[in-house]
Amino acid sequence: AKRRGRGIIRLFDEAMDESIRFRRKIEGGLAQAIANDELRLVYQPIVERGDLEIVAFEALLRWDSPDYGTIPTGLFIPIAEESSLIHELGDWVLTQALEMLQRWPGQYVSVNFSPRQFRRQNFVAHVVERVQHAGIAPTRLQIEITETAIFDDAERAADTLYRLRQMGFRIALDDFGTGYSSLYNIRRFSLDCLKIDKSFIDGIGRERESAAIVQSIIHLARALGLEVVAEGVETPAQVQALRIAGCSHLQGYHLSRPLEAEDAAEMAQQRYMR
Ligand code: C2E
Ligand code: CA
Ligand code: CA
Ligand code: CA
Repeated sequence: AKRRGRGIIRLFDEAMDESIRFRRKIEGGLAQAIANDELRLVYQPIVERGDLEIVAFEALLRWDSPDYGTIPTGLFIPIAEESSLIHELGDWVLTQALEMLQRWPGQYVSVNFSPRQFRRQNFVAHVVERVQHAGIAPTRLQIEITETAIFDDAERAADTLYRLRQMGFRIALDDFGTGYSSLYNIRRFSLDCLKIDKSFIDGIGRERESAAIVQSIIHLARALGLEVVAEGVETPAQVQALRIAGCSHLQGYHLSRPLEAEDAAEMAQQRYMR
């Protein structure tokens, strides 16, 4: 039993070591990614339910590493989030998105901000400074944050959101339904939009509970005067169900995959998804 115990400990140590080494590699690579021009943004349309008018694009970060190829964003963002690298990455993302907005008329871009960015001292002043520098109206930037960003220090987050919204920024609560928030306690936050997490959209047509959850999120969000975006819409059946449920906006592969900047600009010109 003793030997087995040691073996397990060693195995555990090795696994830890591997994962720490892996993290270090990713961190090291990311630290150089900006300077080496390995990052790019892709843009996924967000469309109105009725006429499929493209009202916005969500900016999504991509990293093409020369060593590892394209690394899944959901893998490197959490690593960046644990170091202060997220600030540098976030600034790069914001600058790029604002540059894109200088070239597109009449659209807003939705940008993801991680909890650590959002909680940074002077976050509001920082974002205001960036949009002013770029000559972009705050109404053309939507700030996407998750429940994690706001529920740890709800009072401070409520104040930050209030000030951002006073300045004219749009605010979206991302991945809604996966965290601890309820529709009851989001009342206190200044929001424009709820994004219903893909996991609930996936369940539409498969399990009764998901459809019921989606329906109740939509009802209550509308009662609070919020827009609702369904994330990860992949099938015509989901579109149909979401239309009937009264969901205001749709996003997902069924409408469009995330696009390279030039392709997104071209799509913005045509204004409607076919
Ligand atoms: P998210 O904000 O929830 O973004 C939606 C993710 O779902 C994106 O993955 C998008 O490409 C993907 N997606 C969209 N439609 C569909 C669909 O119909 N089916 C499927 N299977 N997936 C769909 P992506 O780009 O890999 O990003 C993953 C996560 O990484 C994002 O989740 C977000 O949390 C984070 N992220 C991405 N870009 C940024 C960024 O610039 N800054 C920060 N802080 N986080 C980012
Ligand atoms: Ca319209
Ligand atoms: Ca998002
Ligand atoms: Ca999301």
